[in-house]
Amino acid sequence: MRIAVPSETDAAEARVAATPETVKKFIGFGADVVVQAGAGAKSGIADQEYAAAGATVGPDTATTLRDADLILRVRRPDPADLAGVKEGAAILAIADPYDHIDALQALAATKARIFAMELMPRITRAQVMDVLSSQANLAGYRAVIDAAEDYGRVIPMMMTAAGTVPAAKIFIMGVGVAGLQAIATARRLGGIVTATDVRPATKEQVLSLGAKFIAVEDEEFKQAETAGGYAKQMSAAYQAKQAELTASHIAKQDIVITTALIPGRPAPILITADMVKSMRAGSVIVDLAVERGGNCALSKPGNSIVTENGVRIIGHLNVAARQPATASALYARNLLAFAETLIDKETKTLAINDEDELVKATLLTKDGALVHPNFQPAAA
Ligand code: NAD
Repeated sequence: MRIAVPSETDAAEARVAATPETVKKFIGFGADVVVQAGAGAKSGIADQEYAAAGATVGPDTATTLRDADLILRVRRPDPADLAGVKEGAAILAIADPYDHIDALQALAATKARIFAMELMPRITRAQVMDVLSSQANLAGYRAVIDAAEDYGRVIPMMMTAAGTVPAAKIFIMGVGVAGLQAIATARRLGGIVTATDVRPATKEQVLSLGAKFIAVEDEEFKQAETAGGYAKQMSAAYQAKQAELTASHIAKQDIVITTALIPGRPAPILITADMVKSMRAGSVIVDLAVERGGNCALSKPGNSIVTENGVRIIGHLNVAARQPATASALYARNLLAFAETLIDKETKTLAINDEDELVKATLLTKDGALVHPNFQPAAA
């Protein structure tokens, strides 16, 4: 069994899908591992470290992928990247399937089996494979660090001989994995932290982290969680009440971090242009939902802007990868854990069980077709 780790083709992607630690484990399962030269460079991993772990270093993508049974990637490959890949080869990646049916169909034609790691069910067995959690946690941390960097004042209260400096007020909107880590990080820095979410279960989590919970707690709120633990799309009436409540709060905040997402839908707008106007100069908004349209009406994907009234709005993309070494280390462990379920350790071969619920939930393409029920071309 041959496992390949090609370099990411998107120059902006700093993560890598395997580390020397995971390479060693794969070799322990009886696999040959090939890592493309330079694949780990942006995560601070030199080719020699992969070689020391037992991998072969492939000079280019084609050589790296040749005869591979299992390909580990961070992002969805282009079909052109897969020229010459063995039929049926399994590719694990953050495949970003929503709204990309055409790209998925083109990939299906390569006859590879592409698994979307972000579709991993959130069940106990798969927690260790949960790339959304491993990366969102880092994004939540980084959002606070980025905000602190651009905030022209300090976060904690300081009592000095030259006088007292007040603590920064930090509001976290959306308390999933990223939001919880943002609360914890903001508290560690000494901020006065408040948070909101539409899922009632988050209230206790917010309080347990020492922050204050702010939300419209009506009947709709009490039902606002799917069986999978995700947020439901809220009604227009709820969103209006929510906006009314948060508007006066936002006006008093120094830093607002937004993380609100609804799977498969555009992110809800939680901060309107008027709310931004109500904030004082020097305040900072970090919009972690910017890749799905943003929670702030004014945020710009990939950019940091300053509004006329002096509010900075940060819209970095791929925030987890702003600390690439940690992001790669955790992502690589997520892939290792899933890959282990696809390998028969007796015969040392890839043995994919299509009936396994993890495979059913994540497999996008097989035998030249798009097989995932949620990602089918619209009927003509
Ligand atoms: P997410 O990234 O999909 O969304 C982030 C947060 O935004 C969510 O908490 C959501 O409720 C919130 N949100 C959506 N619309 C909002 C609105 N209008 N206003 C305010 N907030 C809004 O969420 P996530 O980080 O993936 O976590 C979702 C849930 O899954 C959490 O309960 C998390 O603890 C749970 N989870 C479970 C497992 C597991 O069991 N293996 C693993 C990870 C996460």
